[in-house]
Amino acid sequence: QNPILQVQDLKKYFPIKGGVFGKKTLKQVKAVDGVSFDVFEGETFGIVGESGCGKSTTGRTILRLLEPTEGKILFQGRDIAELSKNDMRKLRKDIQIIFQDPFASLNPRMKIQETIEEPLINFGVTDRNEREKRVLEVAEQVGLTKAQLSRFPHEFSGGQRQRIGIARALISKPKLIIADEPVSALDVSIQSQVLNLMRDLQKEFGLTYIFISHDLSVVKHFCDRIGVMYLGKMVEVADKNSLYDTPLHPYAEALLSALPSSHPLQKKQRIILQGDVPSPSNPPSGCTFHPRCFKCLDVCKTEQPSLQPVHEDHLVSCHLYQGAKEQIATGESR
Ligand code: SF4
Ligand code: MG
Repeated sequence: QNPILQVQDLKKYFPIKGGVFGKKTLKQVKAVDGVSFDVFEGETFGIVGESGCGKSTTGRTILRLLEPTEGKILFQGRDIAELSKNDMRKLRKDIQIIFQDPFASLNPRMKIQETIEEPLINFGVTDRNEREKRVLEVAEQVGLTKAQLSRFPHEFSGGQRQRIGIARALISKPKLIIADEPVSALDVSIQSQVLNLMRDLQKEFGLTYIFISHDLSVVKHFCDRIGVMYLGKMVEVADKNSLYDTPLHPYAEALLSALPSSHPLQKKQRIILQGDVPSPSNPPSGCTFHPRCFKCLDVCKTEQPSLQPVHEDHLVSCHLYQGAKEQIATGESR
């Protein structure tokens, strides 16, 4: 299997209000702080975590809607972090995004026809007939009728608006779609319709998805492999079954303990995390999860763990799996 996307040590820092980059005294918010993962062709890679952990910023930085501070973003082997704005614009044909809020991402004064067509104009498709033909084609693929194309966004329900958002993403025949909480604003019954549509389109066109979500049960059903983010870092990356059956990182363990057990006989203990996610402008020392961790070791307070493979296709960033096991045995854990 070929990786279509390789993200390597990606960083996105924002200057704190009032500050200017480049001065020593200055603080930065490390929204994305050294994130690495591969996405394989045709798969759905989930990115999960609580809000504010850097999921959306990661997605937007891959698209260069935000400029990366550091790191490599290899799309089909080519580093798009290095591309000029102009070359990046061309590449947007291949990488598209679906937003959480279909209301906000649609221009209220534009007919659906124009909304779906607009990217084609931006990509320089000058033949009007060709554009109209293509709009009709994608409209049908997402389940919109020809009559609906001459209507305005306010005439559509949330689920239909997301179909419009999907059509707009699909129009340029992308290879990779970054879906940022695409169903979070929708009712549960509508959620599964939109997810089924996304899955059908994936099969039909061989699409690769990055699926960003805070909803672990949606991710469980929709994704093949998953990366768990905490405070701007990827703390665990695994295929779906390994992650849901045997989460390794205590943060992942706690998040997943809230889900109903898939084995009726196996009773799960719900792990309630203490406190909130700390501010990324002032992250804790060592493992940034340590103030909330129920398995914290002494080493965790000072040393940052790194993402390491524990089994094939199961990576974790935690001292429990990095030769610190003796400490647990000698009872030094909190
Ligand atoms: Fe907890 Fe330490 Fe692992 Fe961090 S490194 S998750 S504090 S056990
Ligand atoms: Mg978000």
